[in-house]
Amino acid sequence: MPGIDDTAVLIVAAGRGSRAGGLPKQYRRLAGRPVLLGTIEAFRTHPSVGPILVVIHPDDRALYDAAVTVPGDRLLPPVPGGATRQASVLAGLRALRSSAPRRVLIHDAARPFLEARLIGDVLAALEWHDGAIPALPVADTLKRADDAGLIAATVPRAGLHAAQTPQGFRFAAILAAHEAASARSDFTDDAAIAEWHGMRVALVPGSARNIKLTTAEDIAMAEERLAFSDIRTGQGFDVHRLVAGDHVMLCGVRIPHERALEGHSDADVALHAATDALLGAIGDGDIGVHFPPSSPQWRGASSDRFLAFAAGRVRALGGTIANVDITILCEQPKVSPHREAMRARLAQILGIEAARTAVKATTTERLGFTGREEGIAALAVATVRLPSRP
Ligand code: MG
Repeated sequence: MPGIDDTAVLIVAAGRGSRAGGLPKQYRRLAGRPVLLGTIEAFRTHPSVGPILVVIHPDDRALYDAAVTVPGDRLLPPVPGGATRQASVLAGLRALRSSAPRRVLIHDAARPFLEARLIGDVLAALEWHDGAIPALPVADTLKRADDAGLIAATVPRAGLHAAQTPQGFRFAAILAAHEAASARSDFTDDAAIAEWHGMRVALVPGSARNIKLTTAEDIAMAEERLAFSDIRTGQGFDVHRLVAGDHVMLCGVRIPHERALEGHSDADVALHAATDALLGAIGDGDIGVHFPPSSPQWRGASSDRFLAFAAGRVRALGGTIANVDITILCEQPKVSPHREAMRARLAQILGIEAARTAVKATTTERLGFTGREEGIAALAVATVRLPSRP
């Protein structure tokens, strides 16, 4: 079997995406990540792939640099493409000559959903054929329309396949085919050029997931499919001791009381539980990891900053907070008169609607440390929605 440096990848990203409108589609964000970056990652993480080269539009270098934020281990500097997709592929193949790959996979930047299985199948077929492409049998009945928009004919679909990428070829053969075809510009994919030049190109099973994002609707549908389908739940629990004092902080609300909660910070037991619930939902340690009690800078700190920090960690992952639900365990003070103020404060700290917060309280029937009013406990559950990655 060939080594990874034998297999180069050429990603064609030089289109301007006029059918999708606005920003070229390969630079649009999908589930919080540029489409092109998702495509590059699919190859970068594949064990059989060596150098990766992206062909970009000459005007898009700044877009590329902003979008492609991965180490340049296998990724070569991008090269400018030509006026057509065909010319762009030729420019990329010429640029890859110095890498001297044995095989090349040519892929559309706007297909970020390719699976590792497709790459493997195409490469396996290349052991026996000059070229191999993934394709799906056409399922819909095909109609040819006339100029008036009426059906002129029904096209038999037997044996018809819809071609996808990555299309794999023996490098020297596809470069020669592209050079020979450069006087023409009517080829719609690389396999067509290979066929025209007499190469034998095999079909391997394509994937319904491996769609090409072409229209604004494609992007919207993909976004819907991916968006926030990764739902996480976290729980938090905290206790603080009651000592002499004149108020307690609960859910960021100052409540006059004949005792106070003891703690390194303002001892807002409810916000501490909520902070741990959010951190738990994203697998990001706990409040003590991020705000060590040993650190003097958190002495007397207002606990809203801990909760705001946790909410920021969720947002940094592209996530949203679906809800935060808190239960306070205490005999005193009565929570219900302050419930709406607490929800409003939680909503403010978290940057979500108050309807996504809940504050409940219960006594423990004078049982245990909360029943004896030695301390107050709080439980919290948080649900967050994270984007799925293509
Ligand atoms: Mg605490």
